[in-house]
Amino acid sequence: MKFLDTTLRDGEQTPGVSLIPENKLRIAQRLDELGVDVIEAGFAAVSEGEMEAVSLIAKQGLRAEVSSAGRGTKGDIDAVIKSGASTMSMIIPTSDLHIECKLRKTREQVLKITEDCVQYAKAHGLVVELLAEDATRSDFAYLTKVFQTAVDAGVDRVTPCDTVGYLTPERTVEFFTKLKESIKVPIGVHCHNDFGMAVANSIAALSVGVEQCHATINGLGERAGNAALEEIVVALRTFYKLDLNIKTELLYSTSQLVSRLTGIHLQPNKAVVGENAFTHESGIHTQGVLANPLTYEPIAPELVGCKRRIASGKHSGSNAIRNDLANMGLKPSEEQFKEIMQRIKELGDKGKSIMDADVLAIAETVMGLSGEKPIWLEELTFVGGNKVTATASVRLKVHRKEVWGSAIGVGPVDAAINAVKAAIAEAEPITLEQYNVKAITGGTDAMVEVVVHLRKGNRTVTAMGVREDIVKASMDAVISGMNVLKTDYNGKAQKP
Ligand code: MN
Repeated sequence: MKFLDTTLRDGEQTPGVSLIPENKLRIAQRLDELGVDVIEAGFAAVSEGEMEAVSLIAKQGLRAEVSSAGRGTKGDIDAVIKSGASTMSMIIPTSDLHIECKLRKTREQVLKITEDCVQYAKAHGLVVELLAEDATRSDFAYLTKVFQTAVDAGVDRVTPCDTVGYLTPERTVEFFTKLKESIKVPIGVHCHNDFGMAVANSIAALSVGVEQCHATINGLGERAGNAALEEIVVALRTFYKLDLNIKTELLYSTSQLVSRLTGIHLQPNKAVVGENAFTHESGIHTQGVLANPLTYEPIAPELVGCKRRIASGKHSGSNAIRNDLANMGLKPSEEQFKEIMQRIKELGDKGKSIMDADVLAIAETVMGLSGEKPIWLEELTFVGGNKVTATASVRLKVHRKEVWGSAIGVGPVDAAINAVKAAIAEAEPITLEQYNVKAITGGTDAMVEVVVHLRKGNRTVTAMGVREDIVKASMDAVISGMNVLKTDYNGKAQKP
């Protein structure tokens, strides 16, 4: 079976998403590396930008076939030819609702359009895939007639689109089984997620021998989106043991890239690539996973290029917290440890998300330790502007010794974080794995909350900064996280 990725066409039709050609190219190159068979790069007739993007992608010499969508009109076909894409996804509506209300045509006219357009596109050397729009709400006999007309006109493959997500897994099996009886060119499946069944329906179609699967990264797409490529791939690997050409270890980073460039954030509990997909907080789960990952990890994080994260929180088990404290050289007495757990749970019950920095602060208070932080920010300077590269310099005290660092970045926050990293770089290979920001209140003077995940070797920590200024909030978060990673009470006197 083959994958057609339509992140750059159907996915880009997500409300609020508009990609510039350079960013479309970056995503296309990544999809090519990931191993999809066909990249639907855009809709050449829609705008100059779309034409530019499709052309740019088409001339890269990618391994994947590059396709442009277009309607069944001569103008749209000409645009695809002009773009240099080898393939056209020719969209023709087949339901009476679409034919009458949208096209204002008759079934007979649509048959004629299909024949003429497929012939015209084929005569100009295009690979043609016919996408029957709203196919799953079309009269089945008529749909088959449209497809047969296209086949007679030389179409390469056909895809009945479940444009409004109207299939169920049972209906999908029935629908495609019937279709395969009469249509003898490769058939594709194109599902939308209005009822949350896009992935299940896609897999149902593949189970009856459908040759090509349309999907998007992160399930992007109009309304509730399209079938999510990463979910289908991992399900096929896990449940059907299918040996696909997809480099699954690139799925997580591809998802991140698409999320970043489209500005569409993933829900944390998104399957396969969500922030929480490989995060464990509850004590029982953490203990299980640490003993044997199979207990609560149906998908190995490495399969999709992700890493397991154990989060602190009120559900954290004593083992996880004890482990965290031991990493910092803290050995509380049994009584102190009970008190620490108690305070963590109280904080969680108040609705606060507990960061590793909070766990450290609680432990230090309970154990009567000075809590002197290894890293202090003494001074931060940054400059930026529309013609000035964002530059920041910091003066830090690291174990009471002064260090300086300066760096540039894409903006003040990036520059400031880079400067801190530069200042402590040699001694501490700490990487920033995740950076999330949200405004707590409205307005330009809103309080912003920055949460960071930092990693040093196998250890990740979370820390938060809350301020009115985003650069300062970011500094607070990063330095507080670094302080957790750098805290080491080993060899220092601790009260028993
Ligand atoms: Mn669609």
